Amino acid sequence: MKSHSLSVAATLLLFASTACQAEIKIATGHSETNAGFAFPGIPAPANNDAATSAQFNLVDGQRDPNGGDLAVLHDGRVPGSEDQPAHNFFFRAGTAGGRIRIDLGRVISIKQVSSYSWHGGPRGPQVYTLYAAEGTEDGFHGEPKTGTDPAKTGWKQISAVDTRPKEGDGAGQHGVTISDSAGVIGQFRYLLFDIARTEDRDNFGNTFYSEFDVIDANAPTPTSIVQKPLLKTFETEDGKFKFIVDATDAPDLVEWTEKKLKPVVNEWYPKVVALLPSEGYQAPTTVTFRFRSDMRGTPASAAGAGVNLNTPWFRRELEGEACGAVVHELVHVVQNYWGRRGQPRVQTTPGWIVEGIADYVRWFLYEPQSRGAEITKGNFAKANYDSSYRVTANFLNWVTQTCDKEFVRKLNAAAREGRYDESLWKDWTGKTVQELGGEWKKFHEQQLNTR
Ligand SMILES: [Zn+2]
Repeated sequence: MKSHSLSVAATLLLFASTACQAEIKIATGHSETNAGFAFPGIPAPANNDAATSAQFNLVDGQRDPNGGDLAVLHDGRVPGSEDQPAHNFFFRAGTAGGRIRIDLGRVISIKQVSSYSWHGGPRGPQVYTLYAAEGTEDGFHGEPKTGTDPAKTGWKQISAVDTRPKEGDGAGQHGVTISDSAGVIGQFRYLLFDIARTEDRDNFGNTFYSEFDVIDANAPTPTSIVQKPLLKTFETEDGKFKFIVDATDAPDLVEWTEKKLKPVVNEWYPKVVALLPSEGYQAPTTVTFRFRSDMRGTPASAAGAGVNLNTPWFRRELEGEACGAVVHELVHVVQNYWGRRGQPRVQTTPGWIVEGIADYVRWFLYEPQSRGAEITKGNFAKANYDSSYRVTANFLNWVTQTCDKEFVRKLNAAAREGRYDESLWKDWTGKTVQELGGEWKKFHEQQLNTR
């Protein structure tokens, strides 16, 4: 997220129609965070509009297999977060978009056409031209391919939509509604979306479309099943860091969020940022947490500046591991070893180091009193310096205590800058990581024997 603004921006653009006094109107709405697609002048995504039972087909372009199929565009459901490919339709990576046709089955009086999209980057905004036809026009061609002007094969151009902002990549939720000041856009059976990508700087410019709705002027007003989002926001005292907790999935955890999570995050995120610096690096200034019920096993995960919290697991662990798990994920947010968007992913750091650093901060700095990363008689035999998580955390703590107080700081900087190499252990401590691992193991063996 580039700006701190949480406001829902809505603009109404007016376009003069050439044929009569009636004017096509385009209302657009944009929110950087989850607004539940609630924008002024734009109906909520519906699940019983004229598009729900219509036939959608791909006239031109390729569907990206990482996304959903065309059915997700008219099921009335929208994604729960900005990065849920399976809940969106988008054209294949590296391609320039394509054309989607809606066949409503019969000619109806179209009152409104709406489109909704959501992505945390440049695939949020919408760029398309909408055409409509009755199907009986002279020379009508039902499936004009890209390169053929639909207006020359019987289609009428309704409007051109472009919700890309002047500045920034337009990340977030976008809603668009096309209507007509006369009350009805026209009598049509077919709609054709001629969709363009939002950018071609990289392969990922095709919009994540979540839903298309068509409102029949003669049908009852459709209803929506989209949940109103429940967001809690707070920030550090100095205003440097801002946090958004999306508790839509877990209204019962709002109280815990405010009483327990908020003070821990406000204190520890800035601490982790200070603990893990590197030259010229700016840690994310806005972090979003989202409770989710679809995480299967994993208690929590981080991607970019977003942290997913497994709702059922948190409900069980409120008094147990909940806050510690969040601190672990905050370390991942600050680590940022995956690089910035559009830059090649840095993958030179082994996973056991990434997780070891996160657990070192959690178990030895945040909650040393819980003694959760001890080497015991029970885990000693299998403990290796590269066993990851708590065991590696214990090893990193030992290296910090015995060799170099700045060790984790240096290790993090090298990992983030993509220059991690096993030889660094020797450069910094005079011993290889294997030698250090052996000494660490011997230390614990003696400790356990003397107990
Ligand atoms: Zn982790």
